[in-house]
Amino acid sequence: MLFGWCATLARRPWRISAKLLVISSVVTVIGFSAICINVMLDMRRGEEALARGTLQNLATSIEADVSRNIEIYDLSLRAVASNMLLPEIWTVSKPIRQLILFDHASTAKHFGAIQVLDPNGTLILDASTLDPLPVNRSDEDYFRVHRDSPDVGLFISRPTLFRGAYAIVLSRRISDDDGRFLGVVAGSIRFSYFHELFDRLSLGTEDTITVLKRDRTIIMRRPFDLDVIGKNLGDRTDWKPDNLRPGGSFAGEGPVDTVPRLYVRSVSSSPLFVVAGKPLSAVFELWQSEAVRIGAVALTLVLFLLGSTLVLAREIGRRAEAEHKLEELATTDALTGLRNRRKFDHAIDLEWRRAMRQKTPLALLMIDADRFKAYNDTYGHQAGDQVLVGIAICISDSVRRAGDCVARYGGEEFAVLLPGISAADAFRIAETIRGKVQGWSDVEATSTVSIGVASLVPSAGMDWAILVAAADKALYAAKAGGRNQSVVANIPKLSLVA
Ligand code: GH3
Ligand code: MG
Ligand code: MG
Repeated sequence: MLFGWCATLARRPWRISAKLLVISSVVTVIGFSAICINVMLDMRRGEEALARGTLQNLATSIEADVSRNIEIYDLSLRAVASNMLLPEIWTVSKPIRQLILFDHASTAKHFGAIQVLDPNGTLILDASTLDPLPVNRSDEDYFRVHRDSPDVGLFISRPTLFRGAYAIVLSRRISDDDGRFLGVVAGSIRFSYFHELFDRLSLGTEDTITVLKRDRTIIMRRPFDLDVIGKNLGDRTDWKPDNLRPGGSFAGEGPVDTVPRLYVRSVSSSPLFVVAGKPLSAVFELWQSEAVRIGAVALTLVLFLLGSTLVLAREIGRRAEAEHKLEELATTDALTGLRNRRKFDHAIDLEWRRAMRQKTPLALLMIDADRFKAYNDTYGHQAGDQVLVGIAICISDSVRRAGDCVARYGGEEFAVLLPGISAADAFRIAETIRGKVQGWSDVEATSTVSIGVASLVPSAGMDWAILVAAADKALYAAKAGGRNQSVVANIPKLSLVA
């Protein structure tokens, strides 16, 4: 019925507003959250890049220090290896020989004394003493390596106990011009060098620095752990930092413990390389607290926004409801509950224009209670009111389509608007109404109705007043014809008049 349609019209603007408000709030929340997440991820990437840069600098500078010292020491070894070929070396006195062979570099703080082994591995010269004990070192790795292959160059041993202290042994082969093996010159760098180097750095307790040979033997590690030193990680598939290219980085578990770290490898050009590691928890510590802070603020804002939206949407809903009720009150007839005259005028205006656009018929029934004044006079005004309510129910029961509009036109007159209904169909509906009123009247009261029926297809320039006038005229005809009957208006004539 038009009642429902009218209600929808009245409610729609508010409903759209509440919906729009909720949609725009949700879109705002999604957009805001996306921006927040993006900013936090950017910050995280920034923190990681910063830590990677710091670890890279650390690894590279440690490697540079270690390489420089190895280079200096190697120069001394080379000098000894080449000076050993001088024919005069065995003709001069022992002190002069010491002076020729061993320079001051070899006596630096963390360097062990340079020693020379003969082709059998027997110690023949020692930078620290003029008369070394003739111990045999032919079992040592570094001796065998040089004896068996002439092209090793500088050989760095596994960490080993050397003269009572842990050290790495650096050695070179002594060969004559024909490449014949004449012995080995060897020296050592004590672990105290690494300890001192690492102690100079300000590192966290969980930070790691690992110095490795190119064959992936761990030379030194901080935190210091004797079990790890000297281990070769060549056969370890889980040694993930090994997958690091020089200058690359890796985040995850390392070979020694399960602490997830960011590992960065030095850009190495020397026989050793350095991997510096920092726990991921430390790398992202600042970011985590920032993220929690920003997240808490963002969440508060989002909750506030959603809360306000819900409150506002509910308020809008309530107001829409109230407006809808007011609208209903303003357009409803208090006695019968039907649409009132004001609503009817609005409805006929709309339907008239729609019918004009769609070129469909619009029918109107004008219904008037017969001899109602007399009824009032006989049974009283209140009984008359009951009859009016009864007639309203009879009409409503007969008109059930959604677009139809039943209204109390005034006093004891009713109007029924029937969009898309021809005069013949409208007449049938009129007769149904009349029959229902009569049937009900026979039982409850003694009242009948007369009905004027009109239906036409509106054309341009016509006004809906024509339709009302036509139905009215037909109603008068019904009254004149003896009442309790339906009369159809002569529409073609009316159209011509218009
Ligand atoms: P007719 O068959 O020619 O229509 O006769 P009628 O008496 O119905 O016509 P008339 O226009 O002379 O009288 C209408 C009467 O309807 C007058 C009034 O007392 C009565 N009436 C109008 N509105 C109401 C109302 O709200 N309640 C009641 N009880 N009576 C009403
Ligand atoms: Mg009347
Ligand atoms: Mg009347």
